[in-house]
Amino acid sequence: MTDSCLFCRIVAGEIPSTKVREDDLVLAIRDIAPQAPTHVLLMPRRHVRSLDDLGDAHAALLGRIFALSAEIARAEGVEADGYRVVANHGRAAGQSVDHLHFHLLGGRDLAWPPG
Ligand code: AMP
Repeated sequence: MTDSCLFCRIVAGEIPSTKVREDDLVLAIRDIAPQAPTHVLLMPRRHVRSLDDLGDAHAALLGRIFALSAEIARAEGVEADGYRVVANHGRAAGQSVDHLHFHLLGGRDLAWPPG
């Protein structure tokens, strides 16, 4: 836990969130400013700063995140029409919270390439 990290504080329950799924490794919550009808954030419980800090040691965590995102997408009913799972690293890509998280977006047509 990093005291100053927003998502660590959400994981710890110090800041309220709308939980979608959770297990021993991952917390999934609704984004506070949804960019699509389904906008869920999947994050590791333990602090990892960004995509750039990932290595082989995170294989189980990443497997869980993608398995959970597929499960959530089906539960939200967006798997048939399509959805996107994306993570931003660094300021140029739009990362605003320095705790690794994947956006699950669905429920509308999503432009490609992204802005
Ligand atoms: P990123 O810009 O990729 O780092 O994504 C950060 C995301 O966190 C944004 O989509 C924000 O809307 C979302 N966010 C910020 N604060 C909260 C919060 N307290 N609860 C849920 N989502 C949040």
